[in-house]
Amino acid sequence: MNDNLAARFDAANHDRQRPCIFTTNGQTITYDSVFRSAAKYANALVSLGINPGDRVAVQVEKSVEALYLYLGTLMSGAVYLPLNNGYTPAEISYFLEDAEPRLFVCDPQDRAALEGVCKKNNVHRHLSLDANGLGSVATLANAQSDKFDIVQRSGDDLAAILYTSGTTGRSKGAMLSHNNLYSNTAALLEAWQITANDTLLHALPIFHTHGLFVAISTLMLCGGAMIFVPKFDVNELIRLMPRATMLMGVPTFYSRLLNSPEFDRQLAQHMRLFISGSAPLSAETHAEFQSRTGHAILERYGMTETNMNTSNPYEGERRAGTVGFPLPGVELKITDPETGDELPLGETGIIEVRGPNVFKGYWRNPEKTSLELREDGFFITGDMARIDDDGYVAIVGRARDLIISGGLNIYPAEVEAVLDAIPAVAESAVIGVPHADFGEGVTAIIALRPGVSTDEAMIIAEASRSLARFKVPKRVLMVDALPRNTMGKVQKNALRDAYSNLYKN
Ligand code: AMP
Repeated sequence: MNDNLAARFDAANHDRQRPCIFTTNGQTITYDSVFRSAAKYANALVSLGINPGDRVAVQVEKSVEALYLYLGTLMSGAVYLPLNNGYTPAEISYFLEDAEPRLFVCDPQDRAALEGVCKKNNVHRHLSLDANGLGSVATLANAQSDKFDIVQRSGDDLAAILYTSGTTGRSKGAMLSHNNLYSNTAALLEAWQITANDTLLHALPIFHTHGLFVAISTLMLCGGAMIFVPKFDVNELIRLMPRATMLMGVPTFYSRLLNSPEFDRQLAQHMRLFISGSAPLSAETHAEFQSRTGHAILERYGMTETNMNTSNPYEGERRAGTVGFPLPGVELKITDPETGDELPLGETGIIEVRGPNVFKGYWRNPEKTSLELREDGFFITGDMARIDDDGYVAIVGRARDLIISGGLNIYPAEVEAVLDAIPAVAESAVIGVPHADFGEGVTAIIALRPGVSTDEAMIIAEASRSLARFKVPKRVLMVDALPRNTMGKVQKNALRDAYSNLYKN
């Protein structure tokens, strides 16, 4: 038995003539064609002297060829290391130094700028691939045989290293094994009932766990198809939706769809499932989506280090503002941040998870690994949550975003939910800002819906109706839009920096 994830995909797809990819310009690519193209990339890697266990670092635009490069890397037994397109040469230098990849593939237009960084870090080969699938790695692959014997890997061998977004300190490389990825995919297939009859509208980036693993692995492990959309664009989603059965998105996908008057019940009628994750979906968006389309968005929770941990049920109530129940095979408990002891049901603490989905530790960083991964296998996620009486997990925010004002704990998610429910408010982020009296002052940054007029005092008065006084924001600041990263996460660090002097003087 070969535990290589690529061998699992291979074994799951007996009918090679089924479509695997639909491109946005009307091409249909069968599984047969995908596996043969990936084999060419695997042969290309071998021809470059890449051995099983070597790292292949990749910073490229999303394309079908980038998918072949990923699959070819798995086939060859090498370790795939995708990098966010937004990283600068200085950031790339850190990743190359830390991971010591044997090959680095980047966009041809960045090649010259990154040449020095590659030399400095002794990267053996530096090749290119552009958004149209052209570049030196593609040229090399096209000259290879389309047959390749997938390299034998055990379940514990590494398939990929994904660097965490690193909002505090340097990013860490999460080591993910073939079995981490396979076991989680199998759990998701069962939880979401994905089959070969599904067509996923794939509009996520493929350098992150959501688009790379959750999306691609589930569909490829059951012989389903993907419409490969290079970049999120709401009009493209609307154009392509009638051909799809599923969408996986970050919350911004859903709020942008709702902002489009063309998005209606008719357009969503062929859809089987809308899934959201990577950032909290507001209860308002959930409710508005349901009344517009009749679909209850299914929200799930995961992270780079653990893959997916929890999901709302496929059958049964998809409860807004919660991330559902632990997936099959995943153990989850809520612990006291100070003592690490498990807390009684209903109390708020840190989420810890254990299961075959949990990563193997941080690359060359045993200190950080031992801080976050307990010896008994539980991973301390850093997310705070409570479990309600029915077992639904409700995330209240990252532990580091917890606000302590006047000695009292305030969970930003609770205040944000109240603000989001005010009709004038489009979105909100609540942060703690240094305050001479209180230690931290609860501070809200909000974006208003277009065409409404309100002011700070009105928002504060409104929030005071449902929040205890110590939770009510001391200041409410208006912005056009909240700063978000490509995965739709609000950049609270940037907000804390921007407003750090708000209560001084
Ligand atoms: P990443 O490693 O980039 O996937 O980020 C993982 C983090 O995103 C988690 O630790 C959570 O803080 C957050 N996250 C993911 N899914 C959700 C969700 N459904 N609701 C709230 N936060 C989420």
